Amino acid sequence: MLVNMKEMLAKAQKEQYGIGFFNAVNVEMARAVIETAEELHAPVIVGTAEVLLPAMSLERVAEYLIPIAQKADVPVAVHYDHGLTFEKCMEALKLGFSSVMYDCSTASYEENLDRVAEMVRICHGMGVTVEGELGHVGDNEGAGKLENPSDYYTDPAVAADFVQKTGVDALAVAVGNAHGDYKFPPKLDFSRITAIREATGIPLVLHGGSGLSDDDFREAVRRGVCKINIFTDLDKAGRAGIEKGLKNGAASMMGLIPYEIEAMKEVVRNKIGLFGSDGRA
Ligand SMILES: [Zn+2]
Repeated sequence: MLVNMKEMLAKAQKEQYGIGFFNAVNVEMARAVIETAEELHAPVIVGTAEVLLPAMSLERVAEYLIPIAQKADVPVAVHYDHGLTFEKCMEALKLGFSSVMYDCSTASYEENLDRVAEMVRICHGMGVTVEGELGHVGDNEGAGKLENPSDYYTDPAVAADFVQKTGVDALAVAVGNAHGDYKFPPKLDFSRITAIREATGIPLVLHGGSGLSDDDFREAVRRGVCKINIFTDLDKAGRAGIEKGLKNGAASMMGLIPYEIEAMKEVVRNKIGLFGSDGRA
């Protein structure tokens, strides 16, 4: 069933487990995520992000993702991640996404606050969850270019002010995590996660989950992270599945699909187990 992400995360926060958010830019990805969640009786979050729209438009994604979510026998939130423009977030709302991330993290603090607060007023009027980002989760392509990466980390006191003034339901934090492939083993600032959790009281979101260790995930969840974003691992597994299929002599697209889906399901299965959301649906 299609659900509101806020309620899903509130339960996860109370019972101390994490829920995976997996981008699904085609039907095979959507099937891998939702079928695995059903097999494991796990709530799950699925969606796409503004930077992924070249793979599939928002409207097209909504056409398959929302009906699959509605028919699923586990709770599924359909989330639009890293919405960068007001217009695209409005489009996601109109298409029936149950959750929107409005990422204004590269704007000034005041602008981030004003823009996210406006988004919260609109989305809450429609029963849609809003995620904001404070501090800035960069990408690994820029690794080594920032002089002092911790300048971009989320400040707990500022986070408390942001959450109180905007009314966001979930907050993406910058605590040493980054998008894409990590060039160096990431080192998460765990005490900062605890401090932000205590200062804000709301579910925290960890972006850039692909490449963190199993222990990193367990510790982050223990300290208040309720949503973990995974895309790179899923994307690469899909490719590896296709390569395996080709090696095994699959001669057509149709023959490759089962390999692709099985490889991606393995990633989803592993993460759901690690985050502790299996059996929570
Ligand atoms: Zn992200």
